[in-house]
Amino acid sequence: MGVNRDIDITRDASLRPFCDHTFEFAIFHEARFKTTDAHCISCWKRIAPPGKNEAENVGYVTIHEVNYKDLPPLVQYAWVCNDCFARYGNDYGWKVSKQRIPQIPAETEHDFDAAYRDYLKRIGSQEKDLIASEKPENKQE
Ligand SMILES: [Zn+2]
Repeated sequence: MGVNRDIDITRDASLRPFCDHTFEFAIFHEARFKTTDAHCISCWKRIAPPGKNEAENVGYVTIHEVNYKDLPPLVQYAWVCNDCFARYGNDYGWKVSKQRIPQIPAETEHDFDAAYRDYLKRIGSQEKDLIASEKPENKQE
């Protein structure tokens, strides 16, 4: 039973940021969603273009914005599979719109990617400094 409870806590943590979100029921399309496949945020089932047999081809898609400290907002598509939408939709207040969800502007992704790369570089050089300062041969006597 403990295992099941852990899974529920993990799922709840994944789904809670999507409370009251509006979704579009969509066919997965590589060019439109700018990626080759996606995964259900709840069960991690793969969602991919039609013709890939092992994956779902349709699902519910919404837009998710993540705000990391000191970085531009990261805007992403988030998918929920049919089964999970039916199972958890009421609990999380999910709505379905007949309208297309907005296209994520490309420059948003680039802003975030550029800032994130800078951040990684800063972290990397800080770690190098840290490692260098801990090496005894670099200590100035
Ligand atoms: Zn799912």
